[in-house]
Amino acid sequence: MDDREAALQKAHRHAVRWLASLSDCEVPARATVDEVVRALGLDLPDGPTAPAEVVELLATACEPGLTAFPCGRFYGFVVGGTEPAALAADWLVSAWDQNSVMRAVSPAYAAAEDIAGSWLLDLLGLPGTSAVGFTTGATMANFTCLAAARDTVLRQAGRDVARDGLTGGPAVRVLAGADRHMAVDLALRYLGLGLPELVPADDQGRMRSEALRSALTPPDGRPTIVVLQAGDIHSGAFDPFAEAVSAARGAGAWVHVDGAFGLWAAASPEYAHLTAGCAAADSWATDAHKTLNVPYDCGLAVVRDPAALRAAMGLRGDYLIHHEHGDPVDKVPELSRRGRAFPVWAALRAFGRSGVAALVDRLCRHARTFAAGIAGIEGATVLNDVVFTQVCAVFGDDAATDRVLARLLDDGTAWISGSTWHGRRVMRISVSNWSTTDEDVARSLDAIRRAAAS
Ligand SMILES: *Cc1c(COP(=O)(O)O)cnc(C)c1O
Repeated sequence: MDDREAALQKAHRHAVRWLASLSDCEVPARATVDEVVRALGLDLPDGPTAPAEVVELLATACEPGLTAFPCGRFYGFVVGGTEPAALAADWLVSAWDQNSVMRAVSPAYAAAEDIAGSWLLDLLGLPGTSAVGFTTGATMANFTCLAAARDTVLRQAGRDVARDGLTGGPAVRVLAGADRHMAVDLALRYLGLGLPELVPADDQGRMRSEALRSALTPPDGRPTIVVLQAGDIHSGAFDPFAEAVSAARGAGAWVHVDGAFGLWAAASPEYAHLTAGCAAADSWATDAHKTLNVPYDCGLAVVRDPAALRAAMGLRGDYLIHHEHGDPVDKVPELSRRGRAFPVWAALRAFGRSGVAALVDRLCRHARTFAAGIAGIEGATVLNDVVFTQVCAVFGDDAATDRVLARLLDDGTAWISGSTWHGRRVMRISVSNWSTTDEDVARSLDAIRRAAAS
């Protein structure tokens, strides 16, 4: 057995054992950063160590400091899990080590990206001729789409940003809902566009389309971008796309949708109504590492006009090999990058059309079970309309809710984070893992009842 095989076998054994432990594990990490640092050792060795020995040290030192993110009882943030075919494909991505940017150099990668991209457009109900770029996550997908938006609205105003930059050019007006995700602000900051102008939202976080319409009436001719949202991280709510897109079109604006986890509602016949009108936008950002459950890092930047994306992200290099129809590199910010589309292809191939729909339906059903269970706890109130995968609840005043959250983490059965929503501390449940079972939800609800009772 050579070094490579020995190291991979070690990694395989540890990975399989750790994943098997998830069905009955405590979700929070047990070790502190300092404890893991001590276990790993601070001193850089003078000489080499056998790769298998390094993997053994890494696995045994780190395991106590791991949070069981891919466990079916993790409901923090919005994280997804690791669908098995996608996880295994991700190992192959590292083994194959393709620099996945040029069609001519990795035909296999280009084929997987083409197929995965067209399957995604089909499942998400987006225009079939759109360009799909595979980014690190939804933050960079928002950045990528909004770069195409910025350059296009400025080009229409006579400004070539790629050549002349922003300084001295017309100001771009960006409008976004008051409850947009902060990743939108971050993307706008990277793009030199500053903070968006906020359009009021309703109590569920949905942009008020009449407020958008009056902000855009009468049209003032400024280059304008409107950012909508599919899936509010607290309530799961979706913006009223049809009305908002029509208001934006009246002002000649580019319409972008941040649908990091919510855009996937479109893949389920039962929930597709939430995204009605969304396909009329110009660009859409979503994640594959959330609802689709591929490993990090994988976001998707979808732009209706491929030429607009290529104008923003494309590049030429004398030493590169360019394809006449464009390359993966022309759709994303990075130059060198890993083969992100392989795990996406694998997850889609494993789920199939009905499997993706069933996944979305299951996540939503679990969220409703959580809401119903919490509503039955004395003193607890569910604050949001549970339309998708998100539940926000309080257990009395802020201090009482924080106490329940702290006791729940101590208990270890489930991992649920707190947040502040509309000025109140809330327990925020996000169901996004393919492997979450009815039993996981029942056990987690029991843990919430225990935390609320003590
Ligand atoms: C998670 C999320 C983002 C950011 O996505 P990353 O993949 O973490 O970069 C943006 N918008 C919304 C609505 C999200 O839920």
